[in-house]
Amino acid sequence: MTHEIAVIPGDGIGQEVTPAAVEVLEALEIDFEFREADAGDRVKEVTGEALPEETYELAASADATLFGAAGETAADVILPLRDAVDSFVNIRPAKAYPGIDAVRPETDLVFLRENTEGVYAGHEDRLSEDVATLTRVVTQSASRDLGEFACEYVEDGDHDGFTIAHKANVMRETDGVFRDTIQSVADEHGVETDEVLMDAFATKVCLDPEQFDVVVCPNLAGDVLSDLAAGLVGGLGLLPSANVGPERGLFEPVHGTAPDIAGEGIANPAATIISAAMLLEYLGHDEEAERVQNAVETTLENGPRTADLGGDASTEDVTAAIIDTL
Ligand code: ATP
Ligand code: MG
Repeated sequence: MTHEIAVIPGDGIGQEVTPAAVEVLEALEIDFEFREADAGDRVKEVTGEALPEETYELAASADATLFGAAGETAADVILPLRDAVDSFVNIRPAKAYPGIDAVRPETDLVFLRENTEGVYAGHEDRLSEDVATLTRVVTQSASRDLGEFACEYVEDGDHDGFTIAHKANVMRETDGVFRDTIQSVADEHGVETDEVLMDAFATKVCLDPEQFDVVVCPNLAGDVLSDLAAGLVGGLGLLPSANVGPERGLFEPVHGTAPDIAGEGIANPAATIISAAMLLEYLGHDEEAERVQNAVETTLENGPRTADLGGDASTEDVTAAIIDTL
């Protein structure tokens, strides 16, 4: 079976790291059909639109999408693209690698972040010069989808259970629905859970990240807390993410366009190549996903390395080394 993969490099180093990840996927014995499409600042300059209709349609019909980054137009690109794949969960692993300088080298966490509601789907109003308001939306249905996903994630992988991060002691209605719904789904599955207040989590994860494994969060909390964990493992160039929906997914590095190094051919391709490994897993190619992940880890440990990790290798050199290791 051929998998159709939409490839959307976007702007800045997206143009460099996305082709690197495609090269790695091409090195595997899997039948892919890659279809490239434009999005971001550059295409907006030419056509007036940051996300052309055909790019949206491609993401909405391909089996999976590999996305690089978009600059100024990021919100106009990535939010509709997540919608195109009907993504309800954002998977963000934060893992430290041997040989890489990290604040907490023992960190190995995965955030499962609600991807459709919370304050990001909320309605903002400016009532007067003085007063601005925001309505926070949390539904049982979206919480249930996330809970089901978290249970399957724990059951399929090597995990004992998951932690629910919330602030239901203050946001009793919204985070109450979030926590109680996910808890009841976990009870139905017989999956163990514990819970942590999201503010306390921020301290606990810095002091002792090993007490956490899979962390399920509302939208905003997941965004902030996963970035905090990124700081513990050292380096934006290493962090992948997956936006997963029921039938398709969109895979992208956590980092942006890195305008300071764009065009120099020195961007670290690791985050995007690990995102490609998540794409492989999503499509059911678990063995190849593991091979790619291992090849990245071996290369991170033994070099060559890009400048962000203290080396002087190019994007090309690192990509070639990863493919060699494969
Ligand atoms: P954007 O608005 O697109 O997010 P930014 O200026 O915030 O742009 P980021 O891409 O978020 O830039 O990167 C922040 C910093 O991390 C920059 O200094 C960038 O060079 C560095 N960085 C990010 N990704 C990588 C990478 N893959 N390889 C090397 N350095 C990186
Ligand atoms: Mg940024």
